[in-house]
Amino acid sequence: MIHGVVDQQNEVLARLSSLRQHQQGGTRSPHKPLLVLLALGQLSATGTSEISWATAATKLADLIRDYGPPSATQPAQSAAYPFTRLRSDGIWTLNADVPMDRVQPLAANAVVGRLEPLLEQALRDAGLAAAAARQLVESEFPPTIAPDVLMAVGLDPDAILGAADGYTARRRRRGSWPVAILEAWDRQCAFCGFDGQLGAATVGIEAAHVRWFTFGGPDAVDNGLALCSLHHKLFDRGVLGLGDDLRIIVSSRFTSRTTAGQSVYELHGRPLRPRPGTSLPAAAHVDWHTNEVFKGPGLTL
Ligand SMILES: [Zn+2]
Repeated sequence: MIHGVVDQQNEVLARLSSLRQHQQGGTRSPHKPLLVLLALGQLSATGTSEISWATAATKLADLIRDYGPPSATQPAQSAAYPFTRLRSDGIWTLNADVPMDRVQPLAANAVVGRLEPLLEQALRDAGLAAAAARQLVESEFPPTIAPDVLMAVGLDPDAILGAADGYTARRRRRGSWPVAILEAWDRQCAFCGFDGQLGAATVGIEAAHVRWFTFGGPDAVDNGLALCSLHHKLFDRGVLGLGDDLRIIVSSRFTSRTTAGQSVYELHGRPLRPRPGTSLPAAAHVDWHTNEVFKGPGLTL
């Protein structure tokens, strides 16, 4: 390496951020970033980014199912796409020359993948690895979900999301937006009506984007809902959605065993209850959430 350490670090982050450019029109495609995050978790835990196909076929498939957009693709097939295709981005290698996308040759040859050696070497720097993980997770997921994804790949969310940030430039948020959303919804959860306060301050109620900020969702009143912390999380994970008539839909894939958890079912079919004059979520943003986030189909009553 002739150029300096900082150049090298920026080059690594730029190479990884190019994965994001495969997305168009707000379509989510977190498959490759999830594989790289899994490899970073592996590198941090074991000192090597090696992931066998057997591991990918379960762990990566689970990550894609749990944190990816709704999809009818078979789990092993959904893992085979990034496991083979990430090679063409020049950051992933396989120990056998197998065709793109096909599960059978991966299984038959017990193929093992790993980050490209020079890249892996650079990412042994814990600070750079943390910056890379942060960049990947924040470009794909909202803040409600990023910590869950990091934990799922074996990385420490506090260390990564709390790390001093000299690397990445971020799209600027409008600081006044959350306040405007909470006001527009009377500082209550738009789904359950929770309106907790501690003293004079609202507690446990957040401004939620319908179309995620990371996927072009604007800080606009017709792209926001005030939601309690629980329903914000469930909305961002696709447990809860909105129908064309703006009634709440509960995913039929959500299950719960206690009455506390099962109270979520009772939201199904409820209308939103905005303050008079509040702009309701725009159809385009609701459609994005339905297509990219909600784990349909909804419950049938
Ligand atoms: Zn709520």
